[in-house]
Amino acid sequence: MAPHTLTEAPRVSFTDLPVSKPIRRAVADQGWEIPTPIQALTLPVLLGGEDVVGIAQTGSGKTAAFSIPLLEVIDSKTRGVQALVLVPTRELAAQTAAELANLSRHEPVRPVVLCGGVPIGPQIKALKGRTATVVVGTPGRIIDHLQRGTLGLGSVRYLVLDEADRMLDMGFAPDVGRILSRTPDGRQTALFSATMPGAIRSMVKSHMRSPQWLAVESGAPTVDTVEQVSYRVNGRDKTSVLRSLIDAEKEPRAIVFRRTKHGATKLHRQLERDGYKAGLLHGGKTQAQRTKTLAAFVGGRTRILIATNVAARGLDIPNVSHVINYDLPEDVETYVHRIGRTARAGRDGIAATLVSEAEKREFDKIKRALTVEVRESRLPVSA
Ligand code: AMP
Repeated sequence: MAPHTLTEAPRVSFTDLPVSKPIRRAVADQGWEIPTPIQALTLPVLLGGEDVVGIAQTGSGKTAAFSIPLLEVIDSKTRGVQALVLVPTRELAAQTAAELANLSRHEPVRPVVLCGGVPIGPQIKALKGRTATVVVGTPGRIIDHLQRGTLGLGSVRYLVLDEADRMLDMGFAPDVGRILSRTPDGRQTALFSATMPGAIRSMVKSHMRSPQWLAVESGAPTVDTVEQVSYRVNGRDKTSVLRSLIDAEKEPRAIVFRRTKHGATKLHRQLERDGYKAGLLHGGKTQAQRTKTLAAFVGGRTRILIATNVAARGLDIPNVSHVINYDLPEDVETYVHRIGRTARAGRDGIAATLVSEAEKREFDKIKRALTVEVRESRLPVSA
C-alpha cells in the first residue's frame, strides 16, 4: 500500500454526492441505502474527475464505485468509444456490463462486451455506428479488435482497470500497456486491485496522473465478515469430509475450489455419483457451458459449484454460504479472492479449508499473512 493511502471512509450518503437523478433513482431501485466504504472513499474523487487507485476486494461494491462516475461522463450524442473497462475474465465482463446496464436503466447505456471465446463478427457489428459507447472487455480480445482496426480508442475519456493484479497474473501486462498507449493522455483513469504488487505500482506511475490512493482496510487484505475455519484431514478423506460439511447444512450453497481442471472434473464425477447435484466450472469449458453452469447455481438448481481459480475472482453470486478450499490456494492473494466469493456486501459466510498433512506448512504460511485468525475446527458429524 502506498504511504499516502487514505483509509478512513468518510460518512456520505448517495444524496450528498453529485450524482444525476436517473442514476440516483437506479441506486434506490437496487435497494442500496448508503455507499459501501470503498464507494464512500472513491466516488467523491472519481466524480470530481480525478484518477484513483482503489485497493478493494471483490464484494466491496467496487463495480458501482467506478460505474457511477463512468455513466456521469457519457454523452449520449457523441460517437466513438467514450469509456473503456478492462477486466481479466469474461465472467467479470458480463457482470460489469450488467451492473452498468442496471445503473443506467433510467437513461440506458448499453455496454458493448468484447471478450474472447465467442465469435468476433457480432462484436464488430455492435461497435458500428453507435453513440454513447461504453466498452467492457478482456485485454486479449480488445487487442484483437485494435489490430483489425475495428475498434478505435482515440476518444476514450474514462478508463477502468478492474482487478489489475489479476490481469497481471494472467499475463495481460503487455496487452494492457498497449491498450493504454492507444487512449488519450488526458483521460481519467480508475484502477482497482485487491493487492498492489510492484508491477502495478509501475503501471500506475507510467500511465496515471497523480492518482489518489484509496483503500478501506490497512494491513493484509481479508474479508472480515467471513468466518474462516480449517480442518486437518487425511488427504484420502477429503471427499468424505466435503460431503459431511455439505450434509451438515440445511440449505448449502457452496463453491468448492480445486487447483486443476482434472481434479475438479474428478471431484465433480465423484459427487454426482454419490447423488449430489453439482456444477463444474473451469477454463476448459466453453462460454456457453460456463454461463449455463453459473445460471443453474445462481438460480439454486445446483447447490454445489466445483471450480478452479477461473471462478475465484470477480464473480458476484448472491448468498454463497460456503467457500470450501478442497485444495489449498496457491498463495495468500488467491486465498483472499476465493473466500471473497462468500459474505458479499456484508452478509455472513463460512470459508473452510481442508488441510492435509502435506499441505500444513504451506497453509501455515498463508495464515501468517492474514490479519484475522483461521480457527482450526473439528470435523462436523453428518446426520
Ligand atoms: P462488487 O464488489 O462490485 O462485486 O459488489 C458486490 C455486491 O455489492 C454486488 O452484489 C452489488 O450489487 C452490491 N452493492 C454495491 N453497492 C452497494 C451498496 N451501496 N449497498 C448495498 N449493496 C451494494
